[in-house]
Amino acid sequence: MNKQVLIAGGGIGGLAAALGASRAGWDVRLYERAGAFSEVGAGVQLGPNVVRRLQAWGLQRALQSVAAFPERLQVRSALSGRELAVLPLGADAVQRYGAAYATVHRADLHGVLLAAVETCESVQLNLGLGIERHAEANGAILVRTTRGKDVEGDALIGADGLWSHTRVQLLGDGPPRSTGHLAYRAIVPQRALPKALRTRQVTAWLGPRLHAVQYPVRRGELQNIVVIVQGPARQDLQSWDHAANAADLKGALAGSCSALQTLVRSVPAWRLWPLSDRPPVRSAAQMAQGLVALLGDAAHPMRPYLAQGAGMAIEDAAQLQHALAMHDLEVPLRLRRYALNRWERNARVQARSQRNGRIFHATGPVRWGRDAALRLLGPRLLDLPWLYRGDGSSASSL
Ligand SMILES: Cc1cc2nc3c(=O)[nH]c(=O)nc-3n(C[C@H](O)[C@H](O)[C@H](O)COP(=O)(O)OP(=O)(O)OC[C@H]3O[C@@H](n4cnc5c(N)ncnc54)[C@H](O)[C@@H]3O)c2cc1C
Repeated sequence: MNKQVLIAGGGIGGLAAALGASRAGWDVRLYERAGAFSEVGAGVQLGPNVVRRLQAWGLQRALQSVAAFPERLQVRSALSGRELAVLPLGADAVQRYGAAYATVHRADLHGVLLAAVETCESVQLNLGLGIERHAEANGAILVRTTRGKDVEGDALIGADGLWSHTRVQLLGDGPPRSTGHLAYRAIVPQRALPKALRTRQVTAWLGPRLHAVQYPVRRGELQNIVVIVQGPARQDLQSWDHAANAADLKGALAGSCSALQTLVRSVPAWRLWPLSDRPPVRSAAQMAQGLVALLGDAAHPMRPYLAQGAGMAIEDAAQLQHALAMHDLEVPLRLRRYALNRWERNARVQARSQRNGRIFHATGPVRWGRDAALRLLGPRLLDLPWLYRGDGSSASSL
């Protein structure tokens, strides 16, 4: 009889984990607390390291049918509008890393993973049913669902996001910390924008105390725009998605160049996300203990300044697949192997994301130095071979 893994969470991480576990020959029961699978309207960048994982699962064509593949990454000053640096992506990324750099609507990426999972007979999806708590007994894991039912499995994967219950129970290390950064996000049909504001590339605007990123998604038909500013979160931190006050955003951008202000003014409605994170993972034990492992934001929530949160969840899932397939090892050893292969890379990406935030929002002389370094060394600073070449195991990626 196949072993059975229980997965808490049906986000990008949970679905990727279900796919990986099923490919490793396990039966899967996935529990998603929400009544319907839905991914809020926003974009996700996927580096070649992540696209390669999706290709390995045979999802290349599905991704191609929904994603955009920007030709280049451009960095501009949010103050002057000047171009500071450019990194070619497109065919260059494929040549350097064996996979493209993609930008995709979260709902489309979620849909690609969901469609793949739905073809796996060994996966059972339970919607509107959360996992409340878990306990290990006699070599099995027992979970209590939100409807009060007990379910037994051979392993539990907590892919239940930033505010993970599984993590609280496993590590008890308190809630995530508020970063003091707010993300204003919007998705706009490119056709609704004046021609000059439409885009086929990734553009990052770096300013003092703020930055903005814009890129195409859904085959280029839509444009994703995110502006991250520093400021107190006035709303409930646990709920991601709030209608934003556009006047606050315009105020924050008052000193920015007219090109960025024009772009922001062209957006009819913004959503607001207060950003939280945790310090980088410190050991394998923070990712797996006994029959329980954490994956994605539950394990290593990060600031979005390296655009790799969902990417690391997908890499986690690929390594989980590898570990679960080690059929001659006891289950706790397989999960430990997964954690050993992942924690250092996740910690590095978390730390680098935090550092990028400081660089993106630099003020005074540091900002001058940043802009000068980008003008001089552009592609060398923007290209990240350690990240894009990594295959998701710490041994080969550090
Ligand atoms: C502004 C911003 C920009 C970003 N840009 C990028 C980017 O460009 N590239 C990138 O790779 N990443 C990006 N990210 C990060 C990325 O969105 C996350 O890292 C990723 O979505 C995490 O996926 P997850 O499945 O681990 O968690 P989540 O997406 O949070 O999913 C967790 C799921 O678990 C469910 N759940 C919660 N509790 C329970 C429970 N007790 N039982 C059952 N289910 C439960 C929830 O309903 C949810 O569906 C960005 C994030 C932000 C905020």
